[in-house]
Amino acid sequence: MSYQIAIDGPAGAGKSTIAKEIAKRLGFIYVDTGAMYRAMALYLLRRGIPADSPEEISAASQKADITIAYRDGLQQVLLDGENVTSLLRTEEVGNMASASSANPDVREKLVELQRLLADRENVVMDGRDIGTCVLPHADVKIYLTASAACRAKRRYDELTAKGEACDLEVIEADIRKRDHQDMTREHSPLRQAEDAVLLDSSDLTIAQVVENILALVN
Ligand code: C5P
Repeated sequence: MSYQIAIDGPAGAGKSTIAKEIAKRLGFIYVDTGAMYRAMALYLLRRGIPADSPEEISAASQKADITIAYRDGLQQVLLDGENVTSLLRTEEVGNMASASSANPDVREKLVELQRLLADRENVVMDGRDIGTCVLPHADVKIYLTASAACRAKRRYDELTAKGEACDLEVIEADIRKRDHQDMTREHSPLRQAEDAVLLDSSDLTIAQVVENILALVN
């Protein structure tokens, strides 16, 4: 049996940074499920599929070939064979991912891929529905959150460091909109699993959150 650590929470709570570090410390693979939804969003954007057309999203999503590979321990997402990993972390793709991930056909297809990965290897998997839906029997479940203002500031710093021009207020509004969409959608909404441990990272360092989770694993 593989060992499974599920980390869920809203955008910008620090899930990927924390999950990557935990995976490194334990020698597990890190599965970034948001990147899969983002790759699907990129596929839809490239085809000009509107975010508000469920029929078109359902039909188009079934044609997208999304696979995962690991290079130097880092997850790579292949879309129809093309490595699109570096194209996924834009606000445009994130907003489309939030809209299209509400589609049950999109979810079914990507959840299947996620479960396959977790069956084969010990994983730290992050997303929105990992503890509630994808891996309901995960060994450790974490719900990682932080205030919206704090999460917006982190995203702002991340984008600014990459040299991207951005506006803090726009980012915070986007984050609130995405939280709302993710928490109120019909299929697999973002929520804390009953057996998940709640961690608020607003006033914790990355190292403190990592130590907290490793203590739970041990
Ligand atoms: O985590 P990240 O910001 O990369 O995720 C992008 C979007 O993908 C989220 O806003 C959410 O709507 C969707 N998502 C999801 N379920 C997951 C992971 C991500 O619905 N397990």
